[in-house]
Amino acid sequence: MIKRNEGFANLTAGYLFPEVARRRKQYAADHPEAKIISLGIGNTTEPLPQYIAKALSDYALGLATKEGYSGYGDEQGMTSLRAKIAEVFYPGLVSADEVFISDGAKCDIARIQTLFGSGVKIAVQDPAYPVYVDGSVIVGAAGKNNGSGYEGVTYMPCTPENNFFPDLSVVEKDSLIYFCSPNNPTGAVSSKAELQKLVDFANANGCIIIFDAAYREFIRDPELPKSIFEIPGAKTCAIEINSYSKPAGFTGVRLGWSIVPKELKFADGSSIHADWNRVMTTLFNGASNVVQAGGLACLDEEGLKAMKSVIDYYLKNAALIKETFEGENFKKEGAEVFFTGNSPYIWVKFAGKKSWDVFDALLDKCHIVTTPGSGFGPAGESFVRISAFGHYEDVVEACDRLKKFSF
Ligand SMILES: *Cc1c(COP(=O)(O)O)cnc(C)c1O
Repeated sequence: MIKRNEGFANLTAGYLFPEVARRRKQYAADHPEAKIISLGIGNTTEPLPQYIAKALSDYALGLATKEGYSGYGDEQGMTSLRAKIAEVFYPGLVSADEVFISDGAKCDIARIQTLFGSGVKIAVQDPAYPVYVDGSVIVGAAGKNNGSGYEGVTYMPCTPENNFFPDLSVVEKDSLIYFCSPNNPTGAVSSKAELQKLVDFANANGCIIIFDAAYREFIRDPELPKSIFEIPGAKTCAIEINSYSKPAGFTGVRLGWSIVPKELKFADGSSIHADWNRVMTTLFNGASNVVQAGGLACLDEEGLKAMKSVIDYYLKNAALIKETFEGENFKKEGAEVFFTGNSPYIWVKFAGKKSWDVFDALLDKCHIVTTPGSGFGPAGESFVRISAFGHYEDVVEACDRLKKFSF
């Protein structure tokens, strides 16, 4: 018989979200009268803007005509979409042939892990989006979990004490550094000066940054950087991954992109851009043409306006949630709220309490589902992540209940 990939055996059980779902289901079974509202999900809830849905539908119907039909396209993505992404999001910073269109950021993270293989050292923010580490374990770049984390992974705590920007001196030379800003789960956004420190560190120490900018469109403070490529020196040390999921509600539609600069090199001087092109042409056959047409529509004037209004909607939810957790009842419980208005996540600390105990209390007293911070890494203990994805009416009702919360 065939041996199991050791990586799967090394993965410790309990992916965060299945456990959240299990507890919610159990609670609902025990309390059938409870109307549970979820502020726990990282999934979009609002309908696609009509304009964008129409672009998808027009392209799909065109496929039924001789003139409109197309089969396989370029594996790297439609030329027009690559050019538009470069122009709209990276003016003067990256060229169209450095943009690779994909079926989403998570899928690109998995493919990036095949690019670097099992020999590479990993550094991650702690807490972090689980895929960076779990994916590294599956490909063998990270080893067994020894109780305080996986072998081969350096955890960089991001806490209120360091303003959610890590001490980089713990990172080993020649590491792959996963960095997410605006951050999931903390909602923190790194400043230009902070990202300059990260870029300078990477260039000086042979590291490559995998910069996850999936929440860039939530940034409303004009001083904050939306791309790592706004930082001088980034083109020799960074790959940026991005997604239409959160800004355009394409979580189910599926579209993303990665920027791999031509200046980026492996230790032997060979081009990472060339190997990435190889990965995309060999292991991926291009994103759906229908979806790419929708992605193109998102980036013209009307599409950008439509995307912004959906994000404004979620940010309005976020503002209400923040205000609620800053209320007197939560102050009495020792809650500390971290939210700067540039992400869909509110990060709340309950000093001295366990994340899962806070989760259970909010579920039991208010019938609200949240996400325990400890599920994102050891430095997330005592925090819960509150998500602003949801219908406004539900958020209003959730906040009304939360105003009466006490342990
Ligand atoms: C939601 C999310 C993504 C998006 O992944 P897709 O595969 O494009 O849907 C990427 N990174 C982070 C941190 C996310 O929260």
